[in-house]
Amino acid sequence: MQKATEKLCEICPRKCRVIRSQSRGFCNENEQIAIAKVMEHFTWEEPCLSTEKGVLAIFFSGCNLKCDYCQNHEISRGGVGKIYSVDEFVKLVEEKQDKHSAIDLITPTHFSQPLQLAFEKIDKRVPVIWNTNSYETTKNIQNVSKFVDIFLPDFKYASNKLGQKFSACPDYFSQALPAICEMCRQKKDLFAEENGQKILKQGVIIRHLVLPGHVQNSLDVLDQIAENFPSRMVSIMSQFTPNGKSLLDRKISPAEYKLVLHHLDKLGIQNGYVQSFESADACFVPEF
Ligand code: SF4
Repeated sequence: MQKATEKLCEICPRKCRVIRSQSRGFCNENEQIAIAKVMEHFTWEEPCLSTEKGVLAIFFSGCNLKCDYCQNHEISRGGVGKIYSVDEFVKLVEEKQDKHSAIDLITPTHFSQPLQLAFEKIDKRVPVIWNTNSYETTKNIQNVSKFVDIFLPDFKYASNKLGQKFSACPDYFSQALPAICEMCRQKKDLFAEENGQKILKQGVIIRHLVLPGHVQNSLDVLDQIAENFPSRMVSIMSQFTPNGKSLLDRKISPAEYKLVLHHLDKLGIQNGYVQSFESADACFVPEF
């Protein structure tokens, strides 16, 4: 009988159709969970997620995109990081979860199958965040919804052309839009109040990172959000930092950010977060 890990991999829209225990696809990872870094008490997520405790941030190795401006080149190109068996991952989460506001799974898509097995064993006591680049299939979103409480999709581009140019992904927008729709369908926003602070226990926050020289893309992304997810939380990020290897070789300007925020206002999007302009600083890039 064929094992689950011996299926041809179609976890993400790349549909590489490789047997992950035998070879690697676009994400450059095999079937075992590979973690580049675990950061405890990580407080750089939105305040309703991080709280004062911070999240347990788990940065996975590999990625199903190849963003030319990626801040985490060393890990996102795969093949590095510590390997965890499903049971070792269960132990990691079980030991650390209670000290944190949530378990933050960062770029986890290509490990969806072993993570699903792990969370079947974990006695989950805090919310699980699926911190994704949004290049997902709706089927995978349905599968991971069994153990995920909060979806944190980065809605990068409202254009397949830009997806190809910057992330080697010719159908980014065509896949990301239905994937985010499915996330919103799966999780209504539910808050709790702890120590006078509003905390998200279940829901969706749609993120967007403003790219230098591409204000129109940001305006188009906001138009898509206003049209398709008008009531959902949005988080606009100004923290773009050049990585020295990208076609995008500068930070965003105050004028660019102002145009994006003006459009946000014009569309009446008020639910969510806007990063201060000063956040465009390299200190926001975790070191690996
Ligand atoms: S998860 Fe990796 S191997 Fe599987 S389809 Fe996506 S990129 Fe390809």
